[in-house]
Amino acid sequence: MKSELPVISVAVTALAAFVHRSGGLGRLTYSSFSGSEGTRLHRLFYSKLEDYLPDYEGSSEVRLTADFATQDLILRVQGRADLMLHEPTSGERWPLEVKTTAAALVDLPGGGDPLHWAQARLYAWLEQAQNPSPAGRTRYGLAYLSALENDVIILTREESLEELEAWFRETAGAYLSFARNIRVYRERRDRSIRAMRFPYPHLREGQRDFMRRVLQQLRSRGSLLVEAPTGTGKTMSTLYPAIKGLGAGMMVQIFYLTARTSTGDVAWAAVRTLQDQGLVLRMVQLTAKEKLCPIPDLFCDTILCPYARDYYQHARAAIDEGLLHLAVNSELVTELAKKHSVCPFELQLDISSYADLIIGDYNYAFDPRVRLERFFGERVFRHALLIDEAHNLPDRARHMYSQALELANIQELRRRLATELPRAASVLDSLIQYLEAAERHISADARGQGALLLAEKAQLASWPELEPELTAIPQLQAERFLALRAPMPGLNRILGWLVMRLRDVLESLDAPELRRRTLDIYFAVLFFLRIMDAYWGPSFILTASARDGPLVFSALCLDASAFIRDTYRGQHSAVFFSATLSPLFWFARAFGGPDRDDRPDILQLHSPFPAENRLVVLHQGIDTDYQRRGESAPELARAIALAALRANGNALCFFPSYAYMELVMPRLEAMLKRYDISLLRQTRQMNDAQRRAFLAAFEADTGATKTLGVAVLGGSFGEGIDLVGERLTAVIVVGVGLPGIGPEREILRQYYDERDENGFQQAYLFPGFIRVLQAAGRLIRSDLDTGFILLIDRRYGRPDYRQLLPEDWSPHSCDTLEELNALLLEAPQPEPLHVDMENTER
Ligand code: SF4
Repeated sequence: MKSELPVISVAVTALAAFVHRSGGLGRLTYSSFSGSEGTRLHRLFYSKLEDYLPDYEGSSEVRLTADFATQDLILRVQGRADLMLHEPTSGERWPLEVKTTAAALVDLPGGGDPLHWAQARLYAWLEQAQNPSPAGRTRYGLAYLSALENDVIILTREESLEELEAWFRETAGAYLSFARNIRVYRERRDRSIRAMRFPYPHLREGQRDFMRRVLQQLRSRGSLLVEAPTGTGKTMSTLYPAIKGLGAGMMVQIFYLTARTSTGDVAWAAVRTLQDQGLVLRMVQLTAKEKLCPIPDLFCDTILCPYARDYYQHARAAIDEGLLHLAVNSELVTELAKKHSVCPFELQLDISSYADLIIGDYNYAFDPRVRLERFFGERVFRHALLIDEAHNLPDRARHMYSQALELANIQELRRRLATELPRAASVLDSLIQYLEAAERHISADARGQGALLLAEKAQLASWPELEPELTAIPQLQAERFLALRAPMPGLNRILGWLVMRLRDVLESLDAPELRRRTLDIYFAVLFFLRIMDAYWGPSFILTASARDGPLVFSALCLDASAFIRDTYRGQHSAVFFSATLSPLFWFARAFGGPDRDDRPDILQLHSPFPAENRLVVLHQGIDTDYQRRGESAPELARAIALAALRANGNALCFFPSYAYMELVMPRLEAMLKRYDISLLRQTRQMNDAQRRAFLAAFEADTGATKTLGVAVLGGSFGEGIDLVGERLTAVIVVGVGLPGIGPEREILRQYYDERDENGFQQAYLFPGFIRVLQAAGRLIRSDLDTGFILLIDRRYGRPDYRQLLPEDWSPHSCDTLEELNALLLEAPQPEPLHVDMENTER
């Protein structure tokens, strides 16, 4: 007869972690692999299983479920055993839990980690619950795979079924009262979600369609790309349906991922609004370790850190107290961590395991170095990923999968070690010699070139001093720059050896600052090796560059679309959204890869603000090409000055580079000094206070004085700032935003050209135009905002550039200052100023 008791499900990993984690946080040398990389290492091991366990056949990823009934509920334990081993003659079956690590096997906890043993033992219990062994005994095991050493260690244990059952009952008992609380909370939460209503009196234009499409994708575990201009209410339009979906059981957690903390704050405020109206939903806003850590001088050495050493002894009470709150942010986490003497960063992660909504940086899902294994380490099907400001993700993801080795830093570390730990200094010698030889090589080869662009060497030069085994190396060359299309086995050997030696050095280092330097190099080398071992493929390239100083040797990811796709596709539903995702097909490719079937569905919304509030003018009479900038600077300065004078309030002008800005600024200053306009410029090294001061000048109540702020495209004022009303009434963009030509860009261009994907568009045109649209998007932030966008460049007259402008812009074109003046007089500005055209001359 079917039981009427409520069922609480728990995953093996969660149950093991809840009951059997003990002691302190792990050592820095232990870290696991996940995703495609973990899968690859597992497969390699399975293919060689016969060598390690010759008597057994193995089945991987075996789903196991069993119920444990109590008086008031059923605890359903479920999980996927990495490997179920089967001995054909005796019929014996037992689970093997497989763990991958970047560390050497000798550095792993002796006899295996107790938590890993608990997982293996739970799989053994699940197997025995379904197929009890006639012998009355069972075995279970752990296999540790070291990516560093390409080696495996297998540990096994055996016990009677009675012992196993007794242990499981204790484990389940320790979890049940917590599980009962979770059940009560979830019932309360789901009731509140059912009762939840959209929090504002009116839906904005397009918002209903937006929310409907989000819900559809969450239901089907699909992916969606939404261009949602400012004013479409994108934060609530994604969160509201996701929370409804959570209440309907479509997923177990929602991740709201952002590029900047301030965007996360907006999501936090949106949920607080819903909570104020009765929603019961637990959310955690994740904060970076550097900001939370009370003793940053330790550089997170979990052996020395007092908050890490006995973490699991104190953490339970801190977590339980954290779970009394529905909104957990850095202030609360800091307070709890202090009270219970635990690491605040780890505590926030532990609390987030029980949160319904987690707000945090992209890194927590997409960066292989900081990805949260507890959520993204296993192949699961249970999260909704809401990815805000998604236009930032393609570039961010390329950096996440790239790593540089800087000769100057390594030499500096050697000098410091030579003074403070002389016996350790020589461990760096092989790498330094290799990099110095590479530097000599590219410097010698560069004589007479002076080239920015890459020349492909068909006959591939050998590199005998560095890589004697390679007689031909595919390479691309520019001045003091070399790109290599193949891995360098000699370098990999040096790095592999160095990782092991640096680990020994770290054991003997106490001075915090030197430890940090050593750790920086250690992690850089470790990740460089990981790229070469786990990720290397046609979308990677090695570069050696001494263009801007001492040599930097880098493993560069040219296209991270496969890694982005692997993070969500087939596992989590994902909604990518931003105010600016044009061209949409380009972003769909960046998130889904070259295969069209893998790409997210697309939804494009129009701005809900009245089109007549904004005038768009294209000044096509000024050439901003690199070679013509000196010649066209006077005319450009006149056009900018005119626009600043015609603006009804403050204006922002964006240049493609500091150098270009500095070329035009003297003229602009001279032209504007007789007018009541204060001229501000962004500088190269602005700190937070200077940035705030720059923006403060745009406050509306500054008397009669208007402000013209001059900044660079793609910088800190090019996106993410809201200057409503008269605080900003004009945006001027000089040029079409193309990134500067250089070897790295040229490599990107070639990468896409080789795939018939129009390299110029992919490497220059689209990334540049995104910056232009972002800057232009600063103008209209509310339905009361009015003003004009002025784009200045001859190329705006060409169809291939024009077609990139948003459909609803309806731009006006001009070629002369007089035409520009006439058009700007038509801009939505109630009180036109008189402009003395004669006196705008320098
Ligand atoms: S308290 Fe700081 S040093 Fe200690 S484990 Fe946490 S983050 Fe690392």
